[in-house]
Amino acid sequence: MERAQVVIVGAGLSGMAAARRLRAAGVEGVAVLDGAARPGGRAAVMPPSDVEGVTPGGMFVQRTDRTLLGLAGELGVPVDRVEHDTTVDDLRVDESGETEVSDDNVPLDVSWWTRLRSDWLFGRLARLAARIDFAEPWRSPDAEELDSQTVRAWLRDRSSDRELLTLVEEFLTLEAGFPADRISMLWLLAHIGPDPEEEIDPLRISPGGLVDALAAEVGDLVRADHHVSRIEQDDREVRVSGEWGVIAADRVVLALSPADCRRIEISPEPPPSRRRLEQQWPQAEIIRTEITYWRPFWRNFGLSGETHFEDGVPAWTIDDSPPDSDRGRLIAHTYTFGAADPLGADQGVTDDPARHRSVLLDNLTHAFGPLAAEPLAVVQSAAGPGVYSRAYQSPTPPGFLTEHGPLLRAPVGRLHWAATETAAFPGNGTLDGALESGHRAAEEVRAALLDRVP
Ligand SMILES: Cc1cc2nc3c(=O)[nH]c(=O)nc-3n(C[C@H](O)[C@H](O)[C@H](O)COP(=O)(O)OP(=O)(O)OC[C@H]3O[C@@H](n4cnc5c(N)ncnc54)[C@H](O)[C@@H]3O)c2cc1C
Repeated sequence: MERAQVVIVGAGLSGMAAARRLRAAGVEGVAVLDGAARPGGRAAVMPPSDVEGVTPGGMFVQRTDRTLLGLAGELGVPVDRVEHDTTVDDLRVDESGETEVSDDNVPLDVSWWTRLRSDWLFGRLARLAARIDFAEPWRSPDAEELDSQTVRAWLRDRSSDRELLTLVEEFLTLEAGFPADRISMLWLLAHIGPDPEEEIDPLRISPGGLVDALAAEVGDLVRADHHVSRIEQDDREVRVSGEWGVIAADRVVLALSPADCRRIEISPEPPPSRRRLEQQWPQAEIIRTEITYWRPFWRNFGLSGETHFEDGVPAWTIDDSPPDSDRGRLIAHTYTFGAADPLGADQGVTDDPARHRSVLLDNLTHAFGPLAAEPLAVVQSAAGPGVYSRAYQSPTPPGFLTEHGPLLRAPVGRLHWAATETAAFPGNGTLDGALESGHRAAEEVRAALLDRVP
C-alpha cells in the first residue's frame, strides 16, 4: 500500500494552501487528492471559454483579506482596485420592466426618510457586529439570543414600514445569497465583520491566477481525478481510498465543504454531532454568468453596468471589464432560491441554462440597448448541485452556529478540517477564508506530527 505522511483531500485553495505551508515547514510525503479533473475547486467555478481571447472574470476581495493579500503578494498575483466612477449611473429594472436610474441599487424614488432610517438600521447592525467574537461567533455575548432569530424577524421587530423593510432585506439577501427569513442574526453579524466600511471599496483578483500560482508551487503533489469515497482510521494510521486505490498516512486534512464531507464514508463513524453538522450544512448557490462584449459599450451611455433586474430572472450585474484589454465584461449573479422569496428566480428558467442565458440577454438588451444582444461570449457556471459543492456562501439558519459551530474545526482522531466554511469570520465563505483555513489546518498537522512518539 502506498504511504504518505499527510493526505489532503481537496485541491481547492484551502487544500493547496495547506500543502504549500506543509512543504514550507519541511513536511515531506504530502499528497493532495481531488475528484475533479483540475485543481481549484470553487475558485475555478467558471468553465474556460472556447472563444479566443475570452478570459475568466475576477472575484471581489476586501482590503481586510490579509491572508489573501499576503499570499497574492508572495506569489505575484495582481490585485486591482475596482474603480468606482460616481459620474456614471446604475440601473434598476422593476418587475413590470420599467427601467430607471438608481443609486447603488436603491431606487431614486425611495424617500429621504426611508434612506435615513435604513442608514440607521445599518448603523445599528454595524454596532451589534462590533461585539461579535469573529473567530468563534458562538462564544459572542448574547450569542444564543442572536442565533435564535432570523434576520427578517429582527428587522420586523424594529419597523413595520414595508418600503424600509424591502430595501434593507433586499440588500442583505444580495449580500448573503439567501433570503432574510432563512438566516440567523448571529451569522449575519459575524458576516458583516468589524469593518463594514471596508467593503464599500473592494478589490479584484483573478481566482484562476491564484489557482495557477499555487499549482505552480504544489501542483506536483496534486492528483486529479482522485475522488475519495472512504476513510478508515485506527491508532496507527489513516487509510484514504477510492476507485483509484488506497493511500495510508499519519494525518488527513479534509479541505472540502462540510456538505462534501458527508459523502465520504468514515470508519469508525465520527461522533453523531459531527455528522449532523454535515447533513444539515446550508449552501447558498448562485449561478454566475460572464458576458463578454467587444467593448464596455455601456460606459459610452454614462452607465456603470451595475444593474439590478427584478423582471424575468432576478439578477444583479456588475462591470468586470478586464483592465488589460479593450473587451467589456459583465458578471451576472442569479440566485437559485425559488421565486416565492424576494429576488428568488423561476426555477424552470434557472434549471435550463439555454433559457436562462436568453432571459439574461433579453434583460440586458432591455436595459442597455441592442448592442447587449450581441455578446462575444457567454460563459455560465453550471446550475444546480454539481458533483461537489458550488456554494457561494453558507448562511446558517437560527440555532445552527451555536449548536454546530464548536465542531467545525475540532479534529476527529487523525482527521483535520479545512475549507472556507471552517474559517474565522468575516472571511468565512470567501477566498481569504479558504486560504486562512488551509494555513490553520497545516499548522495543526505540523504540531501533531512533531508530537508523535518515535
Ligand atoms: C459563483 C461563486 C462566486 C464567488 N465569488 C467570490 C468572490 O467574489 N470573492 C470571494 O472571496 N469568494 C467568492 N466565492 C467563494 C470562493 O470561491 C470559495 O470560498 C473558495 O474558492 C473555497 O475554497 P475551498 O478550498 O474552501 O473549497 P473548494 O474550492 O470547494 O475545494 C474543495 C475541493 O475538494 C474537492 N472534493 C470535494 N469532495 C471530494 C472528494 N470526496 N474526493 C476528492 N475531492 C473532493 C473539490 O473538487 C474541490 O476542488 C465564490 C464562489 C462561487 C461558487
